Amino acid sequence: MKLALFNDWRLGVVTGEEIADITALVPQWSPSWPYAWMLTFIANFDAMRKDIERFVPSAPRYLLEAVELKPPIPQPSKVIAAPVNYPLHQAEMGGVQGVYHGASIKTIEHYGLFLKPPSSIVGPNSMITLPFKGRRTDHEAEVAVVIGKTVKNVVESEAEQAIFGMTGLLDLSVRGQEDRPFRKGFDGFCPLGPVIVTRDEVKDWDNIEFRLTVNGTVRQQGNTGRMIYPIRRLVALASYQTTLYPGDVIATGTPEGVGEILPGDVLTLEVDGVGRLTVSVSRQYAEPPEGMGSWFDPFLVARGAPV
Ligand code: MN
Repeated sequence: MKLALFNDWRLGVVTGEEIADITALVPQWSPSWPYAWMLTFIANFDAMRKDIERFVPSAPRYLLEAVELKPPIPQPSKVIAAPVNYPLHQAEMGGVQGVYHGASIKTIEHYGLFLKPPSSIVGPNSMITLPFKGRRTDHEAEVAVVIGKTVKNVVESEAEQAIFGMTGLLDLSVRGQEDRPFRKGFDGFCPLGPVIVTRDEVKDWDNIEFRLTVNGTVRQQGNTGRMIYPIRRLVALASYQTTLYPGDVIATGTPEGVGEILPGDVLTLEVDGVGRLTVSVSRQYAEPPEGMGSWFDPFLVARGAPV
């Protein structure tokens, strides 16, 4: 099943070119704090599934292109993210020719996982504002896992049962020496969507194809089979560090091909089975606050530096 939020946070099931409004099935529904009822909905989804399937044929329907899609999980308790989880991305970041100019780039064994603030989440067709003129901000195309249950210390062999579904995620990132949650936590730096595909429609978690285009040119092509820490291991590790709740999002890492995004760019992420998530980059940069110059000085990766 493909689930989406639209207009004033109504809940829909996407079928082909249409979206069926199933909001009437969610007694807790409220537009004021979507996470609260989305959490309950996801936690109860298995029990509600038959009712949803019975309701969809008679539900109010709209053309998908006529509604405003929202991020399918607007306010999870957390977005956990995997750094450096594909060998060729590790290679492109390190070494003399790498983005970080000779730095030794390690993996999850060394960095662990990190958090992106839920407030960085935006939905399809959003406009992203770059925070620093003169700093490099990159696209990172990723598959996101949505958690379906409250779990702690789940083992790898049982991790799939903790998953609700998957969606697409862009882990937008300023390059530089600050900690990841700062560089990757700006408003708009976590585009999510366009739909959540429920677990039953995912045939093989280790063979999901996805790609990113910028202004129509393919920049990244990935397959989850090439991950250093596969999806089940990421769920196990994340649940060892922290209790996972329904709706929590895990960004599973980006393949090679990351590159700078610039004002006016249009980014489209397509995860097979999930559909296309398109966002645009504003032509205007944000204005950093005055008096914090040292924070915002360009690092090695300032735009224009050799890479
Ligand atoms: Mn990433």
